[in-house]
Amino acid sequence: MLGVTKAAGIATAWDRYKAQQPQCGFGSTGLCCRICLQGPCRIDPFGNGPQYGVCGADRDTIVARHLVRMMAAGTAAHSEHGRHIALALLHVGEHKLHDYAVHDDEKLHAVAARLGVATEGREQSDIIHELAEVTLGDYQNQDYDKPCHWISSSLPAPRLKKLSDLGLLPHNIDAMVAQSMSRTHMGCDAEPENLILGGLRVALADLNGEMLATELSDVLFGTPKPVASVANLGVLKRNAVNVAVNGHNPLLSEIICNVAADLHDEAVAAGAPEGINIVGVCCTGNELMMRHGVPLATNYLSQELPIATGALEAMIVDVQCVMPSLPRIAACFHTKIITTDNQNKITGATHIEFEEERASEIARQILRVAIDNFKRRDPKRIDIPDEKQEAIVGFSTEGIVAALATVDAADPLKPMVDNIVSGAIQGVVLFAGCNNAKIQQDHNYLTMAKSLAKRNVLVVATGCASGAFAKGGMMTSAATDQYCGEGLRGVLTAIGEAAGLGGPLPPVLHMGACVDNSRAVALVTALANKLGVDISDLPVVASAPEAMSEKAMAIGTWSVAIGLPTHLGTVPPVVGSDVVTGLITDAAKAQLGGYFIVEPDPEKAADSLFDAIQERRAGLGLSTAPRRPALSPTYRFAPSRPAPALLPS
Ligand code: SF4
Ligand code: SF4
Repeated sequence: MLGVTKAAGIATAWDRYKAQQPQCGFGSTGLCCRICLQGPCRIDPFGNGPQYGVCGADRDTIVARHLVRMMAAGTAAHSEHGRHIALALLHVGEHKLHDYAVHDDEKLHAVAARLGVATEGREQSDIIHELAEVTLGDYQNQDYDKPCHWISSSLPAPRLKKLSDLGLLPHNIDAMVAQSMSRTHMGCDAEPENLILGGLRVALADLNGEMLATELSDVLFGTPKPVASVANLGVLKRNAVNVAVNGHNPLLSEIICNVAADLHDEAVAAGAPEGINIVGVCCTGNELMMRHGVPLATNYLSQELPIATGALEAMIVDVQCVMPSLPRIAACFHTKIITTDNQNKITGATHIEFEEERASEIARQILRVAIDNFKRRDPKRIDIPDEKQEAIVGFSTEGIVAALATVDAADPLKPMVDNIVSGAIQGVVLFAGCNNAKIQQDHNYLTMAKSLAKRNVLVVATGCASGAFAKGGMMTSAATDQYCGEGLRGVLTAIGEAAGLGGPLPPVLHMGACVDNSRAVALVTALANKLGVDISDLPVVASAPEAMSEKAMAIGTWSVAIGLPTHLGTVPPVVGSDVVTGLITDAAKAQLGGYFIVEPDPEKAADSLFDAIQERRAGLGLSTAPRRPALSPTYRFAPSRPAPALLPS
């Protein structure tokens, strides 16, 4: 496809990345401050030039403030998504939304019980209404001593105690975002330790927002179960009206899927014998893929390429990770880019405002734009690559537990725990996060997962990581035979066969969109509770090897806060401050158990994560594989002051 764009003189993300070189060293290290109009102020990383901004802020303050602002922005994005879903649920409970209904009553009851909402003898609409109000309370509570409902009802008791003792449990998502912006204003919080504590708190608010967004989406649209799907650009069809849904929020894309069949005949009449073909991009794609098996065209970095096939009638976008370049590229073809959210418009796109009250009507209107656009296709420009890969997806926590229950119905987690204890499974890694133009797309994911699976580490994935693994063939039974070590292969084969899959479970379990990282938290919480330990004791690690977005910084930070060694394959803008680097690595490890590992080389990163797993196994008294000598940290300038701690001991 890149040959097509090149021949047509169309710049893609890769071309624009090249045009940005060399990128600014001050910005890359976090040493540029633009927080007030006296700036931008830049700190000389080598100590020869200015060491203070105009206001007197030093490198540590500047780096910490900007890092916290990234976390706050990520939290805002996830929690707006969550608020949107919670409000939709509230309005379903009030009988205001006729195109939505509860699709998983069992989950509704389970979630309600966890959050203290009575269910016995009550109408479903009353339960929904109260659950939505309790959830929205996490955006409204003004009592600092009352932590948010979702996080405080979800994490293991030892972790909650630790976070509470450190004063890190958020009481109100919106307040955490506002405080983060307030404390990082010019002339406010200037102590890096205190700033990073604030960052941890807002990142935990992000986790709360993710939890509620995911679980309430399951209530409304169904909890994913394993389902077969396909991924890569070859999912587009020459003889169909092709419609891609791109973004994150399932409220629109679910309805688009619901009504597409109704318009089949209109698409056929327009000249497309196969009707309408809905495909996913990015995390909207993951939402639909794991609930319904809808094919995934691609993940974040290559979202422009479906347009270049000349066979895409419309791309419908909602929120987050949508490239503003899409209408420019679409203008070179016949594709319509349709924005749907009034806070997320793009110059050059067609805007059709989505309203849940008229969801089906608007979804039909949007699809008719695509059908009408079919006639503008230029058959000579159609070039759909013959690339598509089968994938088994849909491993929600409930999906994984159900698969395990086929081995031990009375105690589903036992087979997993027993195999971790025996060493057949050395540990678990969560791959999350994005693509980044600085890295060959999907390369780090595939390299690391193959390296870890060979060493018997079970892989779960969310977000654009899931897209990478689906396209890369790591969500098939064949991949288990090809890439897993003997112990892991045996376990996945036994479970897959017991679950009736006719072969092993794949080596990478698709847990959903990037907002669904909370599913992985539910899994590790269940494991920790089963073993009677804290999350920071488990041989579980996380990695965002191609991290890009501010959301990834929020996710990575709460991952550290709940006790996970967390790898980043892109270097965050913190290395200009030895103090901040020390806080999120060594100090975090000492006080939270979780810590950041920054390593761009995927082979070395896999080694570091395997070492972290071994350290945890040793801590639990389990058998360990040989470990390598500790590596010295790579990304550090000379210390500006003695090593800090998050809180005085
Ligand atoms: S807040 Fe301070 S360091 Fe930042 S731009 Fe303003 S004067 Fe410069
Ligand atoms: S994983 Fe990252 S790039 Fe992909 S959709 Fe989520 S935030 Fe965007």
